Amino acid sequence: MLKKGSKLYSILTGTCPKCHNESMYKSKNPYHLSQLFQMHERCSKCGTKYKIEPSFFYGSMYVSYGVGIAFAVAAFVISFLLIGTTLVNTFIAIVMTMILFMPIIIRLSRNIWINIFMKYDPKLKNQGV
Ligand SMILES: [Zn+2]
Repeated sequence: MLKKGSKLYSILTGTCPKCHNESMYKSKNPYHLSQLFQMHERCSKCGTKYKIEPSFFYGSMYVSYGVGIAFAVAAFVISFLLIGTTLVNTFIAIVMTMILFMPIIIRLSRNIWINIFMKYDPKLKNQGV
């Protein structure tokens, strides 16, 4: 089970990378597309500023490249190797997967990116607002 304190927890839930107590995003649902990139400026629990520098999250594009490939490979394995569709249909399945999961890929990339620079600090855990 996922526990607070591991980077994976913050990456998968989109919570503050330092205290894991609060979502970084204004809308937790990545499919609220108009709010896809809307993030709180700071964590209200520990005061961590998410945007370390003005263009900080541009770097997450490098991560999204890798995350996108991971989704594409998963779609290929499921479609071509497990279900046994033709190559053309497999290609369509990959494209559809990329489109359908794009909001998740973008969020995951941001979460991974910020977790590269910040790490969980258990001392922040009990600090109230
Ligand atoms: Zn926090």
